[in-house]
Amino acid sequence: MSRTIFSDDFLVQPLWWDDVPRGETTASDLPDSVDVLIVGSGFAGLNAGLVTARAGMKTLVLDRGAIGEGASTRLVGYIGRFLHYSIARLIEMFGEEQAVAMYREGGEAHFHFLDFVKSEGFDVGMLYRGRFSAAHTPQAYEALEENARNVSRYIPFRYEMCPRSRQREHIGTDIYHGGLILHEHGTVQPAKYHQCLVDAVRSAGAQVVGGNAVRHIRGRRGAFEVTTARGVIKTREVIACTNGYSNQERHALPYLRKRVIPVPGYQIATEPLAPELMKTVKPSGKAVYDSKINLNWDRPTPDDRAIVFGGRSGTLEGRPHDKAKQLYDIMTTTYPDLRGVRIRRYWQGFMGFGFDKLTHVGCNEHGIHYATSFSASGLPLGTYFGQKVGRRVADIGGGDTSFWNLRFPANPLFNGRPWFVPLLAAFYDFQDRFIGQGNKKTG
Ligand SMILES: Cc1cc2nc3c(=O)[nH]c(=O)nc-3n(C[C@H](O)[C@H](O)[C@H](O)COP(=O)(O)OP(=O)(O)OC[C@H]3O[C@@H](n4cnc5c(N)ncnc54)[C@H](O)[C@@H]3O)c2cc1C
Repeated sequence: MSRTIFSDDFLVQPLWWDDVPRGETTASDLPDSVDVLIVGSGFAGLNAGLVTARAGMKTLVLDRGAIGEGASTRLVGYIGRFLHYSIARLIEMFGEEQAVAMYREGGEAHFHFLDFVKSEGFDVGMLYRGRFSAAHTPQAYEALEENARNVSRYIPFRYEMCPRSRQREHIGTDIYHGGLILHEHGTVQPAKYHQCLVDAVRSAGAQVVGGNAVRHIRGRRGAFEVTTARGVIKTREVIACTNGYSNQERHALPYLRKRVIPVPGYQIATEPLAPELMKTVKPSGKAVYDSKINLNWDRPTPDDRAIVFGGRSGTLEGRPHDKAKQLYDIMTTTYPDLRGVRIRRYWQGFMGFGFDKLTHVGCNEHGIHYATSFSASGLPLGTYFGQKVGRRVADIGGGDTSFWNLRFPANPLFNGRPWFVPLLAAFYDFQDRFIGQGNKKTG
């Protein structure tokens, strides 16, 4: 049994970059001054820039890497409807009124995304077939049902419980204990969406420039001086959208570096599968999330020919081939029919989490605006909150949100290096194994 699990064209690179190659670092001239400078060219930064440029502000979006090299072209591509929180926990934290408003906005972000891509005429490779949240224990099945019931008391949404006896209608495995089906859920090809945004932002008159790190920001709102790798730029406004990459330049954004925890996620893509095999593994073509805290997920590619499988375990450290093999083992344990299928791509990216696991959008004491900490929901949330912060900065109305300037906790033991993430991941693995309640969330 020495057949390799890697295909001949195996690459350590996001599958999504096959259709939309990356690497653009634009050598264009930089302006001496702008109205708004946006740090980070992912979904949040581009959506903020789209709003400010369309509002007539001279807008510059900068990225230290190639344009879109962060998580926005590396993610799974889920467009979920909810926050990564149980509603009961959110009510404990904020009281019922605020918690419901926040949960409702999680849903609004989803529908906003659908309306936005439609109205812009973006081709984002969308499949809209719902999601199967697979319960990894019987207790997790109950927790999923309880949270869905709680949420539906406050917010209308379409869900159904699928008992274990019927789960083969949706997923080709018996290892789960049934699951929750969320009908309002889809997937996109994230790099396509990203490219549509870059084109739209440029058409609106903004500059989007890669390969130019922001190193230092001096001054206050109205009169910032931003030191970049290629010179100093004056700007009235700064919007920071660096999310899981906020620790990459030590002195650029200390406020975010101390508050946003980079959490790695890993993915593999299979080679094209025979249509019958695809049907066995994904009979209803739904995206899947399991209920573990250190969760695994999988989705069909937009052409329905292959599977992207991923996991968030920070304990998966190691060389790319070793990590790809670990994911492969989890995938083939989950879906035994995939044994013998080979892997074509492996890649990794960083999500950004706040210590409170909430999204943060606001303006700090130095007058720097930010939209960040989207956990694993930055596609709809980065779009929605990126536009919200853009609206605030452009002062055109429509920037109100129940998330504005929530207390944004820091931790004295954290300065950007996520040394505790592997320890937490090990703890979560333990909880997943021996307590089994899962993440108790609906989204
Ligand atoms: C494996 C994985 C799977 C995920 N799956 C999903 C999913 O299915 N659905 C979903 O909604 N979300 C998902 N997410 C989360 C989602 O990808 C992110 O929340 C979202 O892409 C964040 O967008 P952003 O614009 O805030 O940041 P990013 O896209 O990460 O962009 C930040 C950018 O800032 C740049 N930067 C940092 N510092 C500087 C500096 N000093 N100067 C200049 N540039 C700088 C970086 O180079 C980077 O390009 C996933 C994330 C990962 C890692």
